[in-house]
Amino acid sequence: MSRRPVIAGNWKMNKTIGETKELIETLKPLVKDATAEVVFAPTFVNLTAAVEATKGTNIGIAAQNMFYEESGAFTGEVSGEMLKAIGVRYVILGHSERRQYFAETDEAVNKKTLKALALGLTPIVCCGETLEEREADKAEEKVVSQIKAGLAGIDDITKVIVAYEPIWAIGTGKTASNEQADEACGWVRAAIADMYGKEAAEATRVQYGGSVKPANVKELMAMDNIDGALVGGASLTADFAKIVNYDA
Ligand code: PEP
Repeated sequence: MSRRPVIAGNWKMNKTIGETKELIETLKPLVKDATAEVVFAPTFVNLTAAVEATKGTNIGIAAQNMFYEESGAFTGEVSGEMLKAIGVRYVILGHSERRQYFAETDEAVNKKTLKALALGLTPIVCCGETLEEREADKAEEKVVSQIKAGLAGIDDITKVIVAYEPIWAIGTGKTASNEQADEACGWVRAAIADMYGKEAAEATRVQYGGSVKPANVKELMAMDNIDGALVGGASLTADFAKIVNYDA
């Protein structure tokens, strides 16, 4: 089963509108021949400009979160309908920073995922264990429980992208070894196979995230279970193109 690799840059709470446009204009020509699917995720207020700046290119724009209700008294939230209306095509859900700082639960991630799919947005659903959980030999248990709860009740799981991101590797410069990353992406795939069957699991893309850089992306991407990367820090400069073009 061949799965098209997908490389996404999560720009988190970085870059003003001018800086966002500048980075997009820098990256556009550098990633135009990528074989991987290319996704940029700027902050909410810069999404419209990002969609405009990437029209007619091979770059898809992602939001970093969304709420599952369509509209109403939910101060500070943004709905999937609103994202769709401005041309956003992907949405990152359940990032560990959302879980850690904004109390996002597996239940909320599940509602958001179902809503994103109903709207035709591609969810990039994040999972991953803490260092304590890994050291206590509980990493697999944690990842499988996040997948089983967060990805319940989905009609076509192959429309979801999963990002395995060990929390201890995010923004720390500490990357999981190729084998650790591949093993954990395998746990994700096995959990999906349990829920939706082997064929669907084999067709579902699983990214690795956690201090991916130009120097380590090629080896990670060569692993059987790794179909892409979700990149934070190293996606904020022109060097991100080296990650996107890992196979050039
Ligand atoms: C992330 O936040 O999704 C991430 C993987 O960050 P970094 O690449 O900076 O570790």
